[in-house]
Amino acid sequence: MKKVMCVLLAAVGLLAACAPAQNTSRSFFGSFDTMVTVTARGLSPADFDRLYAIVEGEFTRLHRLYSAFENTPGGIGDINAQAGAAANAAPEVLELLAFWQAQDASITRQVNPLLGEVTALWRAKRESALQGGPAKLPDDAALQAAGALAKSGVLMLDESAQTITLPPGVRLDAGAIAKGYAVRLATQAAQAAGFNSFIINAGGNIMAAGAPSEQTAWQVGIEAPDNFGAESLACIVSLENMAVATSGDYQRYYQVDGVRYCHIIAPDTLYPPRYCRAVTVLCPDAALADLLSTALFTLDIEAGQALCLQTGVDAIWLLADGRTVTTPGALAFINE
Ligand code: AMP
Ligand code: MG
Repeated sequence: MKKVMCVLLAAVGLLAACAPAQNTSRSFFGSFDTMVTVTARGLSPADFDRLYAIVEGEFTRLHRLYSAFENTPGGIGDINAQAGAAANAAPEVLELLAFWQAQDASITRQVNPLLGEVTALWRAKRESALQGGPAKLPDDAALQAAGALAKSGVLMLDESAQTITLPPGVRLDAGAIAKGYAVRLATQAAQAAGFNSFIINAGGNIMAAGAPSEQTAWQVGIEAPDNFGAESLACIVSLENMAVATSGDYQRYYQVDGVRYCHIIAPDTLYPPRYCRAVTVLCPDAALADLLSTALFTLDIEAGQALCLQTGVDAIWLLADGRTVTTPGALAFINE
């Protein structure tokens, strides 16, 4: 029997509908420029407060280290300011980048935090247009120069010296991987404190830990992009000890001459790809889900299906023509 206990909007991080009453949910905004929502069922108010404080504490701490716009010693902003030299790095920053570097080249080619200069060129034009300035594309020569530096550059992680060396002229952007990694670490911290059943949703990077009861799984809604159809949810998935992450073109974007340019950049062209409107990855680890959802967004569906097979994850693609494509295994999670 299907029971919809609690629907979370995957990509916006808001609790959409929540019955019955024993689900508790609370959100905070600020870390990673996104809403983070913690949900649990059947906890006492004091225990929920404790769970929430652990998650909020982890996100606040990790945001200061992983954001390129913060100047925390050993954080990414601090390391960027020292590009070309060995910079002291916080253990969590080394861990995040070691996690990325350990992945297959088919993934690290698509999602490359060394593209920070490229994403900064796009962000500057996007933000200026969204604030009412002229809607312009970045200068192509500047994009290609920054892209060439990023693609030829090597990220040097020295775990014993606890340093990171960036190639000169390169800066890091961990935006494609940091939220999922923070969800992973916050999940581990909550589990270490004895919490087994909860949901953390950081702007569409979701960990559904445990299940709300023995009979039911967590029910999580995958948001439909604008103009995708009449429904606000593309589907609902049943999750137990599973993470989902969505990358899409419908939240951070701007338009130039009627054409949409989103915040995810294909490394081969240095422009936003248009293979799908959104792609959601399902797998047990929130860090991997975040990394792979961005990677899949930059690949055509065939290459994406091959990557899913290679990495053992499932995925749901929402295409521009309104079709939904899934890996065979994803069907087992979809219940509406
Ligand atoms: P996500 O929302 O997880 O798909 O990540 C998107 C964010 O990652 C963007 O806002 C950029 O900051 C950054 N980004 C975009 N394209 C890439 C890329 N190809 N490799 C690494 N980071 C990227
Ligand atoms: Mg991502």
